[in-house]
Amino acid sequence: MKYKGYIGKFLTVNLDSGIFGEIPLSERQVELFIGGRGLAIELLFGRISTRVRPYDEKNDLLVLTGPAAGTPFPTGSRTAVAAVSPLTQTLSTGYMGGHFAPELKRAGWDGILISGRASKPVTLTIQNGKTELADATDLWGLDTQETQVILEKMLGHDVRTMCIGPAGENLVNYAAIAHEQHLVGRGGLGAILGHKNVKAICVQGSGSVEIAASHALFMDRMREMQRIVQRDPIALRFRQIGTASGIPKKNKIGALPTRNFQGGIFQHAEKYGPGPLKEMIQRFESCGQCPISCSSVIEFEFNGETVISERIEHESHWSLGPLCDIGDLNATLKANDTCDRLGMDTVSAGVSIAFAMEARENGLISDADLGGLDLRWGNATLLDPLLERIARREGVGDLLADGVRAAAAALGNGSSHYAMHVKGLELSAFEPRAFTGMGLNFATASRGADHNRAFTIAAEYYGILGDLDRFSHDGKPEMVKDLQDFSAVIDSIIACMFTIDFSTDVHLFAEGIRLVTGIEMDPTEYYRIGERIMNLERLYNLRQGFSAKEDTLPPRIRLEAVSSAGDQAIPLDISKMMMEYYQLRGWDERGAPTPKRLASLDIDHLSPAGTLDR
Ligand code: SF4
Repeated sequence: MKYKGYIGKFLTVNLDSGIFGEIPLSERQVELFIGGRGLAIELLFGRISTRVRPYDEKNDLLVLTGPAAGTPFPTGSRTAVAAVSPLTQTLSTGYMGGHFAPELKRAGWDGILISGRASKPVTLTIQNGKTELADATDLWGLDTQETQVILEKMLGHDVRTMCIGPAGENLVNYAAIAHEQHLVGRGGLGAILGHKNVKAICVQGSGSVEIAASHALFMDRMREMQRIVQRDPIALRFRQIGTASGIPKKNKIGALPTRNFQGGIFQHAEKYGPGPLKEMIQRFESCGQCPISCSSVIEFEFNGETVISERIEHESHWSLGPLCDIGDLNATLKANDTCDRLGMDTVSAGVSIAFAMEARENGLISDADLGGLDLRWGNATLLDPLLERIARREGVGDLLADGVRAAAAALGNGSSHYAMHVKGLELSAFEPRAFTGMGLNFATASRGADHNRAFTIAAEYYGILGDLDRFSHDGKPEMVKDLQDFSAVIDSIIACMFTIDFSTDVHLFAEGIRLVTGIEMDPTEYYRIGERIMNLERLYNLRQGFSAKEDTLPPRIRLEAVSSAGDQAIPLDISKMMMEYYQLRGWDERGAPTPKRLASLDIDHLSPAGTLDR
């Protein structure tokens, strides 16, 4: 491998046979796809030519690093995990901070490809050049924090661990993977590890990562990047309050989804603002190589006990509070901590609870089904017990553990109208009727309603990446396409998406990739790589059975107005934006990439016969 930043190989682990191997990484692969999300789609697309079911042994799971992991590239040391999602059936690549990726590189691998299924619970350990699968029967049933503490005691302080909790073991469709206090939350990849009977992956190494540029030049440019990020006023605010200001801000304009997206104003918004959280902070924390340190540890009281946990992020703050009309901040904080320990995505969990509250109100879930739980709007006391039931698939928890799409299919009676998902992934905290670009992104993002695939709010509300009217449809298709392509490369470096808000731009990222790897990179090539990734993900989804029909929004968004967000927040019809978006992408009316577009992106050879003839 002439390019630096890479080790040049992936570890392969066959759980059926217990055999380890390796696959080399080629120069062409990294030129075309960089790393992280790009390599995930390239590797998984090529391995199997037919539809992959999530709970099938053919559903390989990838752990990936980016080329900058282990270098001072700001925020570039994050980890990605990819597999077919049980929630969406699309390929899902998720990310987390922490220190796993640099350690994996030091252990001599760019990533791990896990195939097959172990016959009993195992831990995969990569330590001191030795790789092994150890019996993890004694760890099965432990939560994510307990598991990490025990493995650290067994394997030593320097080992970095990712693991699942009870939700992953019980195949909750939105189970997460935890590492330290970070999680790959969305898409249910914890359930895929659980299905494979892998409780944890532990890694430790002592190697190093080479970079292409001279040490002096590299450090000089990295220090400058760090200065740019640190000087940014938004970055400074992030450090002090994280993403906590989002709730009162959106509430002020009536665009904070409440009561399962029935309204946009929350009466307890100020309680959920930055002030109360700031007072709870005990210390700040950071992901590897991040100059922002936006994480922190907080302390609060709940039910007479002191709880120490991670500061909550905007999405969880919303889904386990305002969305369910719950106005008890400490109960929301505790529920967030409970989700982390059980290993469960807070967004999908909160949206599923809000769905259940509305279904109960409509008489589709009876009190007899609830085993004593009171599912009324605003009832904070139900959060913890219901989350436990979801993670263990008990009673009504079993219904909600499959996500709102499946729950609505089971309940029927019109409940799909308020099942708030796209392609099976529950909507995150942004009201599409008040931010139309986000609506288009939700409908077209390859793994469903993921705001991070194109954080349009930066342009539609914060005025950072342009200044577009949030209700207007003009200019949105182009903005969404560009942001999706831009973000696909950030996800391939595996840098933090928050950097979009911090004065970083494509020039900085292109320069960073060039300095680390030596790959020739300018803004044009950068966007081309992003577009290539988006198109290959599209081909993958087509093979999984998706079509233009699924590029849509929940009926509630399409058919109801959200009056609190103002007169302009009418039901959202994205059909015109969608046509323009397809044209810009070079996709036909079925949403399939044209051969010409694939050829222009150098991936026409990857399109399997038949994919385009659906
Ligand atoms: S900005 Fe926050 S989440 Fe992003 S890498 Fe830094 S510490 Fe981690």
